[in-house]
Amino acid sequence: MLEKYIKAALKETECDVLLKNGSYVNLFDGEVEEGDIAIKDDRIVGIGKGYKGKTEYDITGMTVIPGLIDGHVHIESSQSTPEEFAAMIVPHGTTTIIADPHELANVLGMNGIHYVVEAAKNVPLDIKVQLSSCVPATPFETSGAILNGDDIAKNITDKDINGLGEFMAYPSVIGCDPDTLKKLEATHEADKVIDGHAPLLQGDQLNGYLCGGIMTDHESITIDEMKEKISKGVYTHLRVGSYTRSMDLVKAITPWNYRRVLLCTDDKHAAEIKKNGHLDDALRRVVATASVIEAPSHLSISLTSSSWITSKTSTPRWSSKMASSSPKTENLSLTPARDISLTSSRTPST
Ligand SMILES: [Zn+2]
Repeated sequence: MLEKYIKAALKETECDVLLKNGSYVNLFDGEVEEGDIAIKDDRIVGIGKGYKGKTEYDITGMTVIPGLIDGHVHIESSQSTPEEFAAMIVPHGTTTIIADPHELANVLGMNGIHYVVEAAKNVPLDIKVQLSSCVPATPFETSGAILNGDDIAKNITDKDINGLGEFMAYPSVIGCDPDTLKKLEATHEADKVIDGHAPLLQGDQLNGYLCGGIMTDHESITIDEMKEKISKGVYTHLRVGSYTRSMDLVKAITPWNYRRVLLCTDDKHAAEIKKNGHLDDALRRVVATASVIEAPSHLSISLTSSSWITSKTSTPRWSSKMASSSPKTENLSLTPARDISLTSSRTPST
């Protein structure tokens, strides 16, 4: 199996697809570089000159970027189906989403989650489905469904489940509610990620919450809060959706902590996606915000597929290209996306 990739990389055999004469964002060294991109099956086998492809595209003037990853999103907030959602966001460069079907689960329980799992198998979008953790979110809700600790323990091992969705009932974690701990411990045993949701939680309470094994958070409200969460190892989402745009939190990002900062939309309505885009819109907003901030990033900020990169040298070039919305560039960003995603099964928000 490997032989065909080695042969193609050595130019002894033809590649399937060749993207010629363009530039690409190199996430390993933080530069925008030039070179033909040779693709065999679903992977990039080489970048350079002299490759031949069964299908070749001249991408002169375009820049290839990795597929964008929405680290936390509720598809149902767009008021569309997973299929429709994929059709809307893939053309904008998003190739992977971490989806928590919380609103569906609130009404339909596991049937709602299974619906998304099955739909995810038929779309050209990598949908990683989280098992909704807090159904209902509070005891006062009357939506109907309940997923207790036994339900979570029973379903978290499902191979189609990526992890546990945002654990918004943080008082139950801190209060060591037995059913809550059962959910968390079952997820640990399954060796899967746990997303968080803890607005304004800091100090000892944050310490206690994190001891539950929660790995991410997208609810920071203040810069100080976000910095503290990052300092304690939390993968912190910068949320740029329809209802919350945490642009001020860009100031919390530093050259030391940027790899703990991820992008997410959380909730974004279909009409706004159609009007402004998806994560490409988030990128443009963040780059525009970063460009007017004097410190702490002290230069501008660019986004990789799963984290942030600060660059002292080539950033203006990145920024101007990413900040402009060229249809050509958006389409092209899709082709090699999955091949160079820097994610692992244990990396949230990938
Ligand atoms: Zn959410």
